[in-house]
Amino acid sequence: MEVPRITELPATLASQIAAGEVIERPAAVVKELLDNSIDSGANNIDIDIVDGGHKRISVSDDGHGIHPDDIELALRRHSTSKLSTQSDLDCITSLGFRGEALASIAAVSRFLLTSRVAQSESAWSLSIDPISGSSTLKPAARSGGTTIEAANIFQSTPARRKFMRSQRTEFLQIVEVVKRVACSRFNITFKLSHNNKIVSRYRACQADLSERVVDVFGKQFLSKSLTVNYESEGMKLWGWLGGGDLSRSQSDRQFCFVNGRVVRDKKIFHAVRSAFGDTLPTGRYPSYLLHLELDPAVTDINVHPTKSEIRFKNTRNVHDFINASLRDALKAAGTLDLTVDNELPGELPGGAPAIHAARPVQNRYFQVKEPGLFYQHITHKKKQDDLLTNNAGLGAPVAALGNWIVLAQREHEYVLLNFQAATEYILKYRLKKDYLNKAIRHRPLLVPVETEANPAQVELVEKYSGELEEIGISLRIISAGAIVIKAIPALLEDADVKSLVRSVLIGLESLRVNENPGSELLESMTKNMRVSVDALSSARMQSLLNDLDRTDLDTTQKHHKGLWRTISVDEISKLIDS
Ligand code: ADP
Ligand code: MG
Repeated sequence: MEVPRITELPATLASQIAAGEVIERPAAVVKELLDNSIDSGANNIDIDIVDGGHKRISVSDDGHGIHPDDIELALRRHSTSKLSTQSDLDCITSLGFRGEALASIAAVSRFLLTSRVAQSESAWSLSIDPISGSSTLKPAARSGGTTIEAANIFQSTPARRKFMRSQRTEFLQIVEVVKRVACSRFNITFKLSHNNKIVSRYRACQADLSERVVDVFGKQFLSKSLTVNYESEGMKLWGWLGGGDLSRSQSDRQFCFVNGRVVRDKKIFHAVRSAFGDTLPTGRYPSYLLHLELDPAVTDINVHPTKSEIRFKNTRNVHDFINASLRDALKAAGTLDLTVDNELPGELPGGAPAIHAARPVQNRYFQVKEPGLFYQHITHKKKQDDLLTNNAGLGAPVAALGNWIVLAQREHEYVLLNFQAATEYILKYRLKKDYLNKAIRHRPLLVPVETEANPAQVELVEKYSGELEEIGISLRIISAGAIVIKAIPALLEDADVKSLVRSVLIGLESLRVNENPGSELLESMTKNMRVSVDALSSARMQSLLNDLDRTDLDTTQKHHKGLWRTISVDEISKLIDS
C-alpha cells in the first residue's frame, strides 16, 4: 500500500475546520457577537436576523469600538485586546479571551465589520471577499460602537450547511441565546428583530432587576418564585428559584451564570437539582435564574470550546454552597420538608469539607453599573460593606502587603496576618479534625509518583499501611528501594507530593512504641509542610479570615506568634512620630 504523504492545509481550509468548533450554527454566531458587544461596554445591543440567520446575522452596539488600525487585526486568529499574559488567563473577567470568534465567523460567512471609536472622526468598515479572502478597509458612517454582519453563513462550507436546521428552528435557538444573555446583564438594553420585525425588547433595568425576570420568564414565574441571596466563603449566590410547582418537563429554564457568564454546567445543575431532593419527581426539571459570583482566580473557563462549562478550583465547595443555600431557601419557604434528609448522595469527588450553613445576606440585588467589570464591581462593593459590618474575628481584609501579609481591619485596630502560615495552620487543623473523625479524604494522583525509600522504610510502609491510609496516604511498594505514591490527602493537593511523603517516611522511622502511630505520622507529615498559595484576591483573603475563625484559635487575641499581630491607630501614629 502506498504511504499517504502529509501536506499542510491551505489557510482558508484550516480556518474553516477550526471555525467548526465554535461556530456550529447561527445561534453560536449570535452568542459570540453578543459577548464581544458586552465586553465593549455597550449599553444598547441590537440583534437583527434575516431568515433565521441563514441569510444574515447582524449585531450592533454602542460600545467603545475598535481602533481603526486594529480592525484588520481583530479578524486574525489569536488576536485579542482582552489578555496579554499568562497571569491574565488565570483571572479572566471578560467574556472573550481566545481571539478566535471573529476569525472563525469571517471564515464561514460573508463578513462585514463597521466600527467607530467615539472620539474619532469617522467610522471604518472592513469587508472580506468570500472567494479570495482579501479584505478592504474603507471609511463609513455610524455613531460610536460596532456593527458586525455575517451573511450567507456556511455557504462556502457545504458540509456544515447540511447540518443547519430550518429557519424557524435556528431562529428559536437564537431567541434562546438572547434570553440567556439578557439575563446575564440587567443593565443593558437588548433588542432582537427577525425579518425587520421586533421580536423581543429587554429594557435596561434601573432599580428593579425583577423587570427583566418578568420580560424573560413571565409574571407568573416572578410571583411564585423565591428570591435567593446567599453569601459564604467568598461566594455569592443570588437570583430566583422556582419551587416544585414551577418545575418543567424540560430543562429549558435552568438559567445559570457564573460571574456574569452564561454557563450550562452539569455540576451546577446537579447542585440545584439535588437541593430539591425527592420533592421533585424524576423527569421534572426546576426552573431558575441564578447568578453565582466568586473570585475569577478560582475558576477556569478555558476548558470548553464554547466556554459554557467551567472548572472550579474547589468543586465540592461550590457544589455544597449552592446546594446548602437553596435547601435553606426552600426550607424557609416551607417548600422542603427537612425533617427527612432530602439531600441526594453527593456524586462529586471529595474536596474540602462541606459547607453546611451558607449565610443569607440582607442586601437585595445590587446594581451592576459597570458592564464588563461585573465581579470587580461586586467585590469592591462587598469590601466596603464588610468594612462596615464584619468586625468578627480578625476583621475584614483591607489589602495585601507584599503578597504574603493580609492587612485586615477590626474596630479601631489593624491586623497583620501571615497568609502562608495561616493557610498552613488551617490545613493542619482541618486534617487533625478529619483524622479524629476518621474522615480524611484521599486525592488519587492522576499520575502516580515514584520515589526512593530505603529498605527499612519500605518495611515500615508495609507494616503501617493501614495507619498511612488513615492519614490519607496510599503507597505501593515496587521494590526494596522504591515506592509509588498513589494518593495524598485531598486537603493537601497543593502541597509538594514527594516532600510530603519524605516527611512521612522519616516519621515512620522515628515512631515511638506504644504511642498512637497514626497521629504521630500525621504530625510528621505536616510538620515541615509547605503549600503553595495563590495570589491574594480579596475573596481569598476574606475566606482565609473566615476559615481561621473556624479553627481552635482565639482570634480575639491581639497577638499569636508566627500568625498575626494587631496594631492600633495610636500605635501607628507613634511609629510615625518616633
Ligand atoms: P475575543 O473576544 O476572544 O478577544 P474576538 O475574535 O471575538 O476575540 O474579537 C477580537 C477582538 O476584536 C476583541 O478582542 C476586541 O478587541 C475586538 N472586538 C470584537 N468585537 C468588538 C465589539 N463589538 N466592540 C469592540 N471591540 C470588538
Ligand atoms: Mg469574542
